[in-house]
Amino acid sequence: MRKKILNSSRYDVIVVGGGLSGLTATVALSKCGLSVVLVDRDPAEKVRCADRDGRTTAIAAAGRAMLDALGVWSALANQAEPILDIRVSDGHSPYYLHYDHREVGEQPMGHIIENAHLKRVLMDTVEITPLVERRNGSEIEILEVGTGDVSVVLRDGARLTGCLLVGADGRASQVRNLAGIRATRLDYGQSSMVFTVAHEHPHRGVAHECFLPGGPLAFLPMCGDRSSVVWTEQTEVAKAFFELNDNDLADALSHRFSDILGVLSIEGRRWLYPLSLVHAEKQTAPRLALVGDAAHGIHPVAGQGFNLSLRDIAALAEEAVAAVRLGIDIGGPEVLRRYQTQRRFDTMTLVLATDAINRLFSNDIGPLRLLRSAGLAMVDRIPPLKQAFMRNAMGLMGDLPSMLRGHLP
Ligand SMILES: Cc1cc2nc3c(=O)[nH]c(=O)nc-3n(C[C@H](O)[C@H](O)[C@H](O)COP(=O)(O)OP(=O)(O)OC[C@H]3O[C@@H](n4cnc5c(N)ncnc54)[C@H](O)[C@@H]3O)c2cc1C
Repeated sequence: MRKKILNSSRYDVIVVGGGLSGLTATVALSKCGLSVVLVDRDPAEKVRCADRDGRTTAIAAAGRAMLDALGVWSALANQAEPILDIRVSDGHSPYYLHYDHREVGEQPMGHIIENAHLKRVLMDTVEITPLVERRNGSEIEILEVGTGDVSVVLRDGARLTGCLLVGADGRASQVRNLAGIRATRLDYGQSSMVFTVAHEHPHRGVAHECFLPGGPLAFLPMCGDRSSVVWTEQTEVAKAFFELNDNDLADALSHRFSDILGVLSIEGRRWLYPLSLVHAEKQTAPRLALVGDAAHGIHPVAGQGFNLSLRDIAALAEEAVAAVRLGIDIGGPEVLRRYQTQRRFDTMTLVLATDAINRLFSNDIGPLRLLRSAGLAMVDRIPPLKQAFMRNAMGLMGDLPSMLRGHLP
């Protein structure tokens, strides 16, 4: 394994994109003993700025185990609210599905963390990790793949060379484009409004997902008697709601949701995220692995986008470590072939499932409404089926890489 040589600009891995996926990939690969340079086009202060990303992320149980293995969980834990139960309902139908974490064990199904906090903790970890160099405020212009290495040339003319390039530069990935990997794109015509509400009654660790004709409405438990709301509507409708004052928005929200949380009041500012699907036709090219939204930007209906990224990163780190132990090239075809094979099924399943759930539920067609209510009631009454869904949402199904089981490979 090559050690980082100061000013040499040669590394084991070049990670392009310093969002949640790129930051986590950098921490994960460096914890495995690889030298990493992380390139992001935004200055560090902008990435750290809490006002840039108002979302919270539901981290599934397996993702929490991975963040623990990477040594970041202890800094996140005091602001992470456990998800004990999930209640799924369809509009005002009396039938609903209730997932209780005790049906599959003692641990919470996941945790809700504010993205701003998550990014800050990951940035802090990157800063103190010995094998990492960070280049914020840099964008890549040229990608060159050689037989034994890969280089990127940044806008300021600097050249970085590594054995493996990790593309974590989001949905509009320039790395993906430069590598000639095609992607399927679909505009959902929906946007998610994201904001925090304080409520009269405690949430008791329950996350609510209520399917409405325009899209899903989620209440995600936060610390204190507060929840993060992700309210999806057709874009024009979402824009109109987004413009309402706090009282009118709270009234409109209460009208759509049950009174289980009592009186709602809006806290702080709001954000609006237009929704689309982006799915790369493959996750690898010579000396390149795509992770996160650069490979698969999915609908947030199931809160799984970043969890899917964590599974990419855990699989890639496992393959890289195995290659180092065998003395083979970490950016060579064997490692990338194994990575692609491992990730194909999981990615494809979630891309199709999130798209199908959104289509099935985001409408007011009578026969579909009946079918949905019957489906929710049925799953609620068949414990093995329900437990399988729960374990899947917790990321605990299948043959998991070591990091998702809570230890480094
Ligand atoms: C409303 C909403 C709610 C969500 N809720 C959840 C949830 O509860 N649970 C969950 O698991 N997921 C959730 N997701 C999905 C999750 O937020 C995303 O999957 C995740 O943020 C993607 O992170 P990323 O780092 O892959 O991409 P991005 O966040 O897009 O980061 C890309 C980074 O690359 C940099 N970059 C771009 N181009 C270049 C370039 N050319 N050169 C250098 N740098 C570049 C950018 O500056 C940026 O920092 C949600 C998504 C939405 C929209």
